Amino acid sequence: MSISLEGVNKHFGQFQALKDISLDIPDGQLTGLLGPSGSGKTTLLRIIAGLESAEHGRILFHGKDVTRLHVRERRVGFVFQHYALFRHMTVAQNIAFGLEVLPRAQRPPAAEIRRQVADLLEMVQLGHLSSRYPAQLSGGQKQRIALARALAMKPEILLLDEPFGALDAKVRKDLRRWLRALHDELHFTSVFVTHDQEEALELSDRVVVMSAGKIEQVGGPQALYAEPESRFVFDFLGHVNVLGGSLEQQRLSQGDAWVQMPEGVDCAGEMQLYLRPHEVRLQNCPALHAHLPLRIESISLIGAEVRLELTPCGWDAQEPWEVGISHVEFNRWQPQRGDRCYAVPDVGHLFGIEQTRPRTLNWVED
Ligand code: ATP
Repeated sequence: MSISLEGVNKHFGQFQALKDISLDIPDGQLTGLLGPSGSGKTTLLRIIAGLESAEHGRILFHGKDVTRLHVRERRVGFVFQHYALFRHMTVAQNIAFGLEVLPRAQRPPAAEIRRQVADLLEMVQLGHLSSRYPAQLSGGQKQRIALARALAMKPEILLLDEPFGALDAKVRKDLRRWLRALHDELHFTSVFVTHDQEEALELSDRVVVMSAGKIEQVGGPQALYAEPESRFVFDFLGHVNVLGGSLEQQRLSQGDAWVQMPEGVDCAGEMQLYLRPHEVRLQNCPALHAHLPLRIESISLIGAEVRLELTPCGWDAQEPWEVGISHVEFNRWQPQRGDRCYAVPDVGHLFGIEQTRPRTLNWVED
């Protein structure tokens, strides 16, 4: 079931929480709504659900206008951050609840409800806990039961609001993987809200980045990360190293730092070069195209890469630089805190001061 939003606006009093949102959410995909706190993600989700009304604009499910349809008639499943299970009911009763309160004509026979509940419990891999009460479950187990309860109603659309927000990092990671696998098996259309960049990029087929009630960019995780269309998306999706300076005769310089632009860059003036940590190499001497002296401030060895935090020598940056190197390279080079080294960009993104879209630069020959 595809979802389309056309020109949706929402005010709370004087405050405009959503500004002319138009968005197509394709059938069968897992779409992440990502943005900082207060950017309007939950409001948008609640408008899709019918829990909140839009002032202008339309909401279409599979081409059908549902703007005026009540939440009950939209056939949407929800999972919220706080599990909202019924405390006085067992796991099985919680999952069966939605089916049991259906009007008699629509309600499946009791044996059929029992069979469906057993299937759902199997699917969320918690068959052995059917007679427990919510208080006897872990946070991750409660969240899986909440999902089974939502799926019991066979929704064509599933909406999840920070579903893993209250869980610790390890459980979050496991549940993410599990939700992705479940989604691939069942192919419902899901929209989930998160403010966690890693979660959005790892879990979603498409990510909608929001800021201050507007959509900044929509795209697949890889495209968003590699080709951000604005400074906001650039800054929001992970660390960025910035050299701000003046570009003249194809050289961007500030203090002791300079970078020679690749062929074909003919603009001039105040510019900023944005570099992701993996787009930069470190070495003991400057390269022909870049002189970016840095001092190693800290070294973090935990993880797949060694992360170095560096500060500029003889030039300024608002934030420290971060560069990742492989453990093999780290062991060969053996850098120490306080050492001086030079950053060498392979790929970069150039913003004019007034410019919102960057120009991608590549110093590596094909
Ligand atoms: P978070 O990640 O913190 O949950 P969000 O991106 O989901 O944030 P929303 O909950 O959609 O943001 O809120 C968007 C803005 O609208 C916020 O500034 C919020 O204070 C405001 N807002 C939301 N609901 C209401 C309400 N019922 N009354 C007044 N203002 C509201």
